[in-house]
Amino acid sequence: MHGETIHKEAAPAVPPRLTDYDRTRSAFTWSQARAGLSGLPGGGLNMAHEAVDRHASSDLADKVALRCVARDDSVSTVTYAELARRTARFAGVLRSLGVGRGDRVFTLLGRCPELYTAVLGTLKNTSVLCPLFSAFGPDPVEQRLRLGDARVLVTTAALYRRKVAERRASVPGLKHVLIVGPGAEELPGTASFDDLVSAAPDTFAVPPTSPEDTALLHFTSGTTGAPKGAVHVHEAVVAHHATAAYALDLHPEDVYWCTADPGWVTGMSYGIIAPLAHGVTVVVDEGDYDARRWYRILGEQRVTVWYTAPTALRMLMRATPRQGPYDLPRSYDLSALRFVASVGEPLNPEAVVWGRDVLGLPVHDNWWQTETGCIMIANFAACEIRPGSMGRPLPGVDATVLKRGEDGRVLVTGGGVTEVESPDVEGELALRPGWPSMFRGYLHDRERYDAAFAGGWYLTGDLVRRDADGWYWFVGRADDVIKSAGHLIGPFEVESALMEHPAVAEAGVIGRPDPVAGNVVKAFVSLRHGVEPTPDLERELLAFGRRRLGPAVAPREIAFDQNLPRTRSGKVMRRLLRARELGLPTGDLSTLEGTA
Ligand code: ATP
Ligand code: MG
Repeated sequence: MHGETIHKEAAPAVPPRLTDYDRTRSAFTWSQARAGLSGLPGGGLNMAHEAVDRHASSDLADKVALRCVARDDSVSTVTYAELARRTARFAGVLRSLGVGRGDRVFTLLGRCPELYTAVLGTLKNTSVLCPLFSAFGPDPVEQRLRLGDARVLVTTAALYRRKVAERRASVPGLKHVLIVGPGAEELPGTASFDDLVSAAPDTFAVPPTSPEDTALLHFTSGTTGAPKGAVHVHEAVVAHHATAAYALDLHPEDVYWCTADPGWVTGMSYGIIAPLAHGVTVVVDEGDYDARRWYRILGEQRVTVWYTAPTALRMLMRATPRQGPYDLPRSYDLSALRFVASVGEPLNPEAVVWGRDVLGLPVHDNWWQTETGCIMIANFAACEIRPGSMGRPLPGVDATVLKRGEDGRVLVTGGGVTEVESPDVEGELALRPGWPSMFRGYLHDRERYDAAFAGGWYLTGDLVRRDADGWYWFVGRADDVIKSAGHLIGPFEVESALMEHPAVAEAGVIGRPDPVAGNVVKAFVSLRHGVEPTPDLERELLAFGRRRLGPAVAPREIAFDQNLPRTRSGKVMRRLLRARELGLPTGDLSTLEGTA
């Protein structure tokens, strides 16, 4: 049902970084990966040194690090040498403000060059960076500033005025607000980021940094509950660097574009740190999603490696159906594009194949979490794709499937857990701790952190199955799976099947309690542009579901909903669909899209 396997060319023009999966995996060690970085001159490891300074003192000094496409389409560039100076200046600004090791610096910014200056300057100063989505409303901003003990906030005048100014008194620890762009002089209690940065010296000696020093604080997406703050250390850069080579196939000459918002972990690990650690040119789009704009950027910027998300691909698919003449993508020269990857949600097989037909390249799904800090499971450039599978564990990553008990949690007996040995059997995805970017704690929540481990494994909270060849297939969140008439149903499988119907743009599937079946599958469906929600279409979709999935798994009920609730990172919030359906409390809505 997952369609044909997609095979790769035997001799691609650019030889992939990983060619023999088994050999690379068995030869790989993290200490070898560490040797691929340079370390601080006096010893220690600092993310910003790896991402910027070491290139600035090499042949790459004059290479373009950032190619920024402004909203008006004008393009400006920043070289590695210039980025080293700007980040040194910002580190100096922090130091002169008395902000030091471990102090928290928050950004509330869209993608812009100053974001890179703030993030990397903070890391140079051994302070801790926490990025926020610029689309957050005042409540989630205040909540996170307080929870994260923010000392400094870097934002714009408009965002400050709308989201922070009135709440400032309730975040007493917030001592410095630095305003990017104009407007600081009219806002009491703020200072101009640009003035401070341009007045600071353009060299800064990075203080000794231990690989275990805290570098980043990331809040999770809040898909399954209140967002959690995951703490990451400088050593994570080892994993960012290694996984970007293997899973994104980054080569030094690449032009790379990551569309993830900087407020989400992908926008940090793979939008900032990993590509710069590789010394590639990073495209920074300051504008918002627009199908034409995106195709234009891919074409005009000669993007070679593109990292995006299923929700973005689905929007492009809506604008450019596979059956269509593809006028839009064909009017741009996408010939530079070599590798496309996606993360964040299950990538339905339809999207993988759409990529091949419309972009000329299949989409490579990969899996990871805020907690893991880097890609854990991926489809690789050199390897076949099984559409619908998230691929296989990265070199250095030890994954398994654990058996679950009656209560839906991983079965723990006598302190031990049981691995599912047989192929194609569902269980919880678990990872052996020890990779460098594993989170070191949930902020202020030791108990929750401890509860995430059992029998020597980190429990991901995601259900998967592994096929006989070792490929992982996402089933659902442990919190989302539906038990219906004795069957365990992953909502993604049902959503994926529905999305293959030409009328369906997107679907969110939940279990609705039922006295007979335990739960029945209910699907909320948004339709493609111009399609009318009629009783006939409802019947057709129910029948289509039964044909594809069989009566035990197919939805019993369909509701049309053009505005499926989603998180800011683009994930369908099934918990909210369920809460609305059942009249339950809606829980934490801070990451719900469209509420700013
Ligand atoms: P919260 O933990 O607050 O509920 P979240 O889990 O959505 O939110 P993230 O850390 O941003 O927060 O997302 C990681 C999760 O996203 C994974 O645990 C998984 O459920 C889902 N995910 C990521 N990539 C994939 C993928 N390729 N296929 C399926 N699911 C994915
Ligand atoms: Mg999670």
